[in-house]
Amino acid sequence: MYVYPVVSRRSGGVSVGVNLNPNNACNWACAYCQVEGLVRGAAPRIDLELLSQELEDFLRLATTPTWMEEHAPAGARRITDLALSGNGEPTTSTQFDEVVQRVITARDRLELDVPIVLITNGSRVHVEEVQRGLRSMGGAGGQVWFKLDRATATGREEVNRIQGGAERIADQLTAAAGCCPTRVQTCMFTVDDQPPAEAELDAYVSLLEDQVKAGVQLDGVTLYGLARPSMQPGAERLGRVSPEWLEALAERVRAATGLPVAVHP
Ligand code: SF4
Repeated sequence: MYVYPVVSRRSGGVSVGVNLNPNNACNWACAYCQVEGLVRGAAPRIDLELLSQELEDFLRLATTPTWMEEHAPAGARRITDLALSGNGEPTTSTQFDEVVQRVITARDRLELDVPIVLITNGSRVHVEEVQRGLRSMGGAGGQVWFKLDRATATGREEVNRIQGGAERIADQLTAAAGCCPTRVQTCMFTVDDQPPAEAELDAYVSLLEDQVKAGVQLDGVTLYGLARPSMQPGAERLGRVSPEWLEALAERVRAATGLPVAVHP
């Protein structure tokens, strides 16, 4: 199964997810990841015909009043977006651009006026087939939600369990935003009751500020708390930051960058 609905009161509708990683494989291993049985690796070969069929069948079903009434609460009975996301990093698929085409085709065939969203850690945005897919998304009213949790090499090692600091992120963010409208998404949480260190927050705000000053077009930033528990080893050490803490960080980002910042504690 590649297609799954996520009903969300907060977004006021149903996001239709397309999961390119049914093998639970990701090239990162974030401390807060909610994927059970997460393994390091890449997306498997995708059966494109099956994906198209599943998606179109589901969209036909989900746009009937009966399905919406049975599965979504009043006020959330509409499809808000088609989201390339799921149980791992979607851009690790070597068929990424073909998948994007299939999703655009399905959406247009069903005459749905909804955006296509890619939820990504941004690590492969420089790869040719990913760039092709991103450009197609950009031309079809899509949006990239780019994961940027920490800006220092140490912070990224601790939170995302990957190598590379600010310089690398800046290149990737520039590459993504050059192909498709891009929004930054950031997860903030405590470790052993301590929020991220001041130096880490300074580096994060500075990175965003530098990007904006360099002319990188960003749509905005979304700051998330830990909405659901992590399924990774060490999950018991993680906790939620307060809504006030998150809002104070949002204010710092707004002041430094002028970008709109949404907060979801
Ligand atoms: S990038 Fe996403 S799927 Fe991969 S480990 Fe991080 S949170 Fe999980």
